[in-house]
Amino acid sequence: MPSYPDDYELVTLAGAFEEEPHTLQAYLDRGGYTAVAKVLEGGMARDEVIAEVKASGLRGRGGAGFPTGLKWSFMPPAEGGQPQYLACNADEAEPGTFKDRDIMRYNPHQLVEGMIIGGYAIGATVGYIYIRGEFWEPYVRVQRAIDEAYAAGYLGRDLFDSGVDFDLHIHRGAGAYIAGEETAMLESIEGKKALPRFKPPFPANYGIFGRPTTVNNVETLASVPPIINRGGQWFLELGTPKSGGTKIFSVSGHVAWPGNYEVPMGTPFAELLELAGGVRDGNRLKAVIPGGPSVPMVPAETILETRLDYEALGEAGTMLGAGSVIVMDETTCIVRAVERLAKFFFHESCGQCTPCREGSGWLHRVIHRIENGAGRLEDLDTLLHVGSRIEGHTICAFGEAEVAPVASSIEHFREEYEAHIHGKGCPMAASGRVSRRVAEAG
Ligand code: SF4
Repeated sequence: MPSYPDDYELVTLAGAFEEEPHTLQAYLDRGGYTAVAKVLEGGMARDEVIAEVKASGLRGRGGAGFPTGLKWSFMPPAEGGQPQYLACNADEAEPGTFKDRDIMRYNPHQLVEGMIIGGYAIGATVGYIYIRGEFWEPYVRVQRAIDEAYAAGYLGRDLFDSGVDFDLHIHRGAGAYIAGEETAMLESIEGKKALPRFKPPFPANYGIFGRPTTVNNVETLASVPPIINRGGQWFLELGTPKSGGTKIFSVSGHVAWPGNYEVPMGTPFAELLELAGGVRDGNRLKAVIPGGPSVPMVPAETILETRLDYEALGEAGTMLGAGSVIVMDETTCIVRAVERLAKFFFHESCGQCTPCREGSGWLHRVIHRIENGAGRLEDLDTLLHVGSRIEGHTICAFGEAEVAPVASSIEHFREEYEAHIHGKGCPMAASGRVSRRVAEAG
């Protein structure tokens, strides 16, 4: 079983290995709700809280990696008793991403406490946690945590006799991938279809019900209480100067022990792979998608030399994204894997923009025919051309996301596409080398 090096510190998964770690009592035993007390009882000003979070180097853990303290500072001052909102994105629909649900399962009170502090810092008196509808157990545990927090006086009116109010509600989604896009999520919270909005205006100016809103990810908000308690500098030094803190990587695919691993930012990929038990069956590593299917895949020789932080992965030609590390070994047919992803994106396009709605279908159909032995060499140029007409021509970043696996796989594994085209089908399936599970799926 995996074991962490002694110098690794768990920040957002702290307590996850205890009995009943999700209860209020367990959280209090770990020092829970002392950070919000420090802020509200200790009289920390909003600007001081934001400055501490800025000093921590915390960047959005949902995929964009935008500096959290800076995002908070974009919120206008609350005025005239009009509401402002803090929305927590717990939709977590990116394939291969399964970290936020574990925070909600094992450490829900740290999320609640992070939201109270975040709400205070941005002048919000109401928070929403948008939980994917399929996440039943995380929903139950977060709801229980909210109930316990109200009963204990951590939520509601006049918290810690500070005059600060904060109410927290859960909004359950219905399972559309695009609802994880921040403005689509705001629409869904308003009771409408989860369709992304044009930006600008950004949520800080026009969010839920047209009011200023900040959207943060679960892991981001759950990182806030330890930052307040132990200082921004402490958190920063856990990681690298530009990528502070720890990060949960959801490791899936062809490893011995798939799962969530919280490691310092800047950890070498090879070390994370070792924690996850290495490539299964002693196979060779072929490729990795380090941040979920909406970021480019990279070949083994590149990722094995790369550290896991925003900058290093950028230099390697990919992105950290949500930290969803999908490992593919030598038995993987890259064309078939990308065909699956293209089908996923085709299915999940919300259909508002023509380049995305039509282009996602074109990408899928062309890759499907290559994988099934009817491809032509010019198809590769067609795929890249279609991708170039999608990227940058859509309302939301879904356009870039659907192109990433296609373009990067052609860049790094072009010969595999060509082998499919010349050999009229998948050469790996013909040789019996393709992954057993993929072969069984047909
Ligand atoms: Fe919808 Fe795609 Fe346009 Fe995003 S890019 S708004 S998912 S059609």
